[in-house]
Amino acid sequence: MTAVTDRSVLRGVAASPGRRVGVVARIADPAPAPSPEPLATSVDLAAAATTVDDAAARVRDQLAAAAAGATGEAAEILGVTAAMAADPSLADEARRRVVEQRASPARAVWDAAELVAEQLRALGGMFADRAGDVRDVRDRLVAELQGVRPPGVPDLPDPFVLVGRELAPADAARLDPDRVVAIVTSGGGPTSHTAILARSLGIPCVVAAPGADTLVDGDHVLVDGSSGEVVRDPDTALVDRVAHQRPRPTRLERPGATADGHRVPLLANVGDAAGAVAAAAGGAEGIGLFRTELGYLGRAAAPGIEEQVRAYAAVFEAFAGRRVVVRTLDAGADKPLPFVTPQDEANPALGVRGLRTSLAHPHVLEDQLAAIARAAEASSADVWVMAPMVATAQEADDFVERCAAHGLSRAGVMVEVPAAALRTRHLLERATFASLGTNDLTQYAMAADRELAELAPLSTAWQPAVLDLVAAACAGGAATGRPVGVCGEAAADVALAPVLVGLGVSSLSMTARALPDVAAVLETVTLDECRDLADVARASRTADDARAAVRSRLRVLADLGL
Ligand code: PEP
Ligand code: MG
Repeated sequence: MTAVTDRSVLRGVAASPGRRVGVVARIADPAPAPSPEPLATSVDLAAAATTVDDAAARVRDQLAAAAAGATGEAAEILGVTAAMAADPSLADEARRRVVEQRASPARAVWDAAELVAEQLRALGGMFADRAGDVRDVRDRLVAELQGVRPPGVPDLPDPFVLVGRELAPADAARLDPDRVVAIVTSGGGPTSHTAILARSLGIPCVVAAPGADTLVDGDHVLVDGSSGEVVRDPDTALVDRVAHQRPRPTRLERPGATADGHRVPLLANVGDAAGAVAAAAGGAEGIGLFRTELGYLGRAAAPGIEEQVRAYAAVFEAFAGRRVVVRTLDAGADKPLPFVTPQDEANPALGVRGLRTSLAHPHVLEDQLAAIARAAEASSADVWVMAPMVATAQEADDFVERCAAHGLSRAGVMVEVPAAALRTRHLLERATFASLGTNDLTQYAMAADRELAELAPLSTAWQPAVLDLVAAACAGGAATGRPVGVCGEAAADVALAPVLVGLGVSSLSMTARALPDVAAVLETVTLDECRDLADVARASRTADDARAAVRSRLRVLADLGL
């Protein structure tokens, strides 16, 4: 479990690899709630109300400019936040409060945002997550109206270690890796916005570090995003070692392989065409997971077939002639969509999600398969299709049949449910490949909500029970001669990657930024050594023991500063 064990070392959860030394700069706290005192009777209410629109326009423009200068996930998150700042409902409600209740513009924005956030929270799931974005916009608007520095990442001339409770999504998306050398948060988990973006930018990051709140501006720290340790006032020997570590490559230069030439295709996880273009530029060998949810989010109905064809074709174009694994819609649980997921489930993670949504709404899947098939036909990409949240062989067979009806012959299944991992051999009788979604597989194996920071120590694929399930799935692949890859976050863990290969995993798919690090580690170990590492990990009693035992055997990690 995470704990502060002594005065000089804080321990959290390793979220993005790499070791860096720097000076702490804390994320500026948002201003407190503005005074509820009504405006004086002499104030021109119409003019006061106009300041809300002016502030909203400036905040929207700042965020839109930041989005335009960003790419991939960062651009997406900033775009969503800018759209929220531009949403007239927040400004309308704030203006109404100024005019009708004589609220100050800042207080009116504050209360209006609270109302919108509350409505989103009531919707649950991913909409509830958006409540954080509304508060982020609120804090920016209030700062703008009060003429104070906006909350969030400080604007400092020299590089620094960013420390805070958790980064607001828009802050996380604006991180400049040339200035933010490392990140430490007391909240968040390995799948939080902060962790995902840090990995995609290659910034070392430790999350869920309880003592992080005791770090103050100017503290000198060493952040080890591989071990999860933050060392206060590191001694000079330690600092020297970090200073002399080899620079990390930023591009995958060679196809993935072990030291003895066992091929392990290294693929990218993407959510849209921009991500695909960035992954291709980063040298990814193909796409191992194309999450298609983005095209469906924030809508009242599924996008039409034509629109989908265009979206998929743009992704295929970035990987002409290479493998692109498209995952069909994974709605439900943390990604509820009003037109396919029930609103009133008591346990959405155990409810109608992933492939299960096609039972009540078969046309959504049918349209998607039709669109994928059309885009694939017009492209030279090697298009594979897989279904999320498959639990039984019957579901796998049905999915394969549906794909075949659309001429999609490479149809596979995601293995994210322990039942599927244990019966992969049966799932692969008809399905032609499997891809382990280790994020959900870990969640279901450990019965630990993947979003909960308190459960972060349980939510790791280093848990020996999860490794046993991966081994079971790979045995099913070996028995049928079908490939079993990994496309969950575990693939991007530089020490876990060789273990997965040793367990029999055939390809690894991850955020493109992690590819060169994983490749650099893989090429130092033979397949037999990977198998030994897998044995060592599975023989461990705890996740921490497994990780420590494997890391101590991989000397290259220290050489590479990983
Ligand atoms: C997973 O569960 O590991 C996975 C890759 O799917 P997602 O993270 O989109 O649920
Ligand atoms: Mg999943």
